[in-house]
Amino acid sequence: MKLHFANSAFISAPERAVQPDGRWRTTLGLRVRYGILVHPQHGPVLIDTGYSKDIFEGTRSFGLRAYAAAFGPVLAQDGQTEVALNQLGFATSDVSKIIITHFHADHVSALRRFPQAEIITDLSTLTTILNRGGFTNLRHGIFPELLPHDLLHRVVDIAGSPIARAPLTLGIGRDLFEDGSVIAVDLPGHAEGHFGLCFPQLDPVLLYACDVQWVQAALAMPRQLPLLGRIVSKNKRDALRSSRKVAEFQRAGGMALLCHDPALTPFDLEQLSND
Ligand SMILES: [Zn+2]
Repeated sequence: MKLHFANSAFISAPERAVQPDGRWRTTLGLRVRYGILVHPQHGPVLIDTGYSKDIFEGTRSFGLRAYAAAFGPVLAQDGQTEVALNQLGFATSDVSKIIITHFHADHVSALRRFPQAEIITDLSTLTTILNRGGFTNLRHGIFPELLPHDLLHRVVDIAGSPIARAPLTLGIGRDLFEDGSVIAVDLPGHAEGHFGLCFPQLDPVLLYACDVQWVQAALAMPRQLPLLGRIVSKNKRDALRSSRKVAEFQRAGGMALLCHDPALTPFDLEQLSND
């Protein structure tokens, strides 16, 4: 099993917005990662999809246009799903499974490129999103127009996977492929149904903690969410609790990787836009 992360886009943000003791005047180039897990039985499995040009083109609600303008992501062309998959020797049609950790726009924007793939996610969250009004979704940073029309028919519900004990301090999770390679771990607070993915067979054990925080430094601050966390979080108390859970896992010897942290990690694919 090999695990890679690609960067789909950069977003500029003041350090203070994502780190409670950061500076307003320091601008960070936040990444928008997604994972490519090369599984021995299932081939390339995507972990979210990052941003794609779909947030800038095609039929879009007013809300999505305003969102794209407000966050102003700059797409990394060499980090788009088709390019990153090619770099690893795969085509988009080789992807038969995609894990969606939550439904924020920066995690689902390329989903429509994969019309055949099974979508492994939290079905109750998806059902809630599809059954409620656009305004509520907009407030949560969710834009159903980015989701494929037949998504519900392709979902594999993580709640149906066997329960398994995740390593170190993580507690109970769901064994997504029933082989102990990927354990989904609840990390509530950031968004509805938000979960992380633990890879017990890697050394050190890795937790993709997704959007629990934007930068590593904020994990070390157990009592205060950064400004962006206070604005975005579905539930602030749960978000802080999840952040502390990830920090505790790191203290126990685990490695945590975040979607948006600007620093390169050993799992990041080589991209020209990294320089
Ligand atoms: Zn998010």
